[in-house]
Amino acid sequence: MSDNVRVRFAPSPTGPLHMGGVRTALFNYLFAKKHNGTFVLRIEDTDQTRYVANAEQYIVDALEWCNIPFDEGPGKNEKFGPYRQSERKDLYKQYAEELLANGWAYYAFDTAEQLDAHRKDHEANGKTFIYNWHNREKGRLVNSLVLSEEEVQQKIAAGEKYVVRFKTPQDQTLILEDEVRGTIKIDTNTLDDKILFKSDGMPTYHLANIVDDHLMEISHVIRGEEWLPSLPLHSLLYTAFGWESPKFAHLPLILKPVGKGKLGKRDGDKLGFPVFPLEYTNEETGNVTRGYKEDGYFSDAFVNMLALLGWNPGTEQELFSLEALVEAFDLARVSKSGAKFSPDKTKWFNQQYLQQKTDNELVELYLPILENQGVTTDKDFAEKVVALIKERAVFVQDFWDLSSFFFQDPIEYDPKAAKKQWKETTGELMTELVTVIEGIEEFSIENAQTEIKGWITSKEIGFGKVMQPLRLSLVGKLAGPDLFEIMTMVGKETTIKRIQNAITNLG
Ligand code: GLU
Repeated sequence: MSDNVRVRFAPSPTGPLHMGGVRTALFNYLFAKKHNGTFVLRIEDTDQTRYVANAEQYIVDALEWCNIPFDEGPGKNEKFGPYRQSERKDLYKQYAEELLANGWAYYAFDTAEQLDAHRKDHEANGKTFIYNWHNREKGRLVNSLVLSEEEVQQKIAAGEKYVVRFKTPQDQTLILEDEVRGTIKIDTNTLDDKILFKSDGMPTYHLANIVDDHLMEISHVIRGEEWLPSLPLHSLLYTAFGWESPKFAHLPLILKPVGKGKLGKRDGDKLGFPVFPLEYTNEETGNVTRGYKEDGYFSDAFVNMLALLGWNPGTEQELFSLEALVEAFDLARVSKSGAKFSPDKTKWFNQQYLQQKTDNELVELYLPILENQGVTTDKDFAEKVVALIKERAVFVQDFWDLSSFFFQDPIEYDPKAAKKQWKETTGELMTELVTVIEGIEEFSIENAQTEIKGWITSKEIGFGKVMQPLRLSLVGKLAGPDLFEIMTMVGKETTIKRIQNAITNLG
């Protein structure tokens, strides 16, 4: 493919960006990078009734967190700017006028009440009202197809409200190509005459979207399946303007974990996982919605998971860096059917990414958590701890639960384990063990192992009789990495102190 691939992500700033939107942005980004193209961010804010002030910043922050920045967009390389449709408002009118002049559009003066009455009439007869070829010239609807030029001008001059509607051609079969779905045939008689422009001077999504894709020289429109029904109109608009159409690719829906129904904005709250990349505060209600970032996910794990929602590499490979995704991505491997989202799989990805990080990277993330816990520690020590416990962690925030005993004495003992492991004779055994430990001069793993194991063998008792109460003394529960590692990490004195504490507390 040539170098002039230009794709755009065109969200409407109506609230936080859903993970489905992030997936659309990601596929656009991957496609652009794969073909040395340009990834454009365009803010589609023509619908002022749904506009939310902090949504645009949220979109930008989300793309940044995912490490998929746009090349062109608001405030960045504004070669085809402005990139906010509200700032392009004045340029759309001439395009509506062009279609009015060449017969591809017409004025319609029908009021909301009149249209409602038509709808009700139809319903009463078991029919659905569609504003199109079928009725637009029959005389019941008030539009420039039936009114004289003079009447039209009079109405406009009198300040009557109007819209500009697209004049969908009659009796045609459209043959449309979609990069994901292949050839789609549509009978134009099933389409309605969509509104392109409103008398408040604002274009509708359809007109603004097509005009901007053309002016911004977009080569491929990659967007969600919910826009597929708009494809016939969009394709006809290109014909109406005499413009070359970009290629289209409609991405499959992301489905709920149960596999049925689209994963919606409110599903996260109901099902207990985030559906947004970042935490979001609704400025009106003060409601805070959780995000993957704040829940402790690594952005590269999140992105890797998203990439496989509706795309597959054709191999068993699941772990992909962003560079590897760019390399492997291909629209031909985007599936037609919906992609089921799995919160468990998302955790699995995070776990994999966590294991891939170096201890040094991880300790940097752990230090602030330790500080929050009021722990002062040496970085090298904390790094060794991380090395010992990370394989059991899914998130960095799991580290504290898995390792608090390296930094502070247990504050309680798991009652079930204590009941089972701390027998009548245990106190005496533990007191003897303290003497054994005191006698170990150089408290290394090897020495501790030799001495303690030797002593247990000489006593001819099972290892569990000593090792389990010892673990309970050191950790507070029957969990954690190798005991000898723990003992030598916390040191001889602390080991002895903790055993003595347990003797006192557990009898
Ligand atoms: N503004 C539309 C949205 O919010 C863009 C659809 C498209 O990409 O054409 O998703």
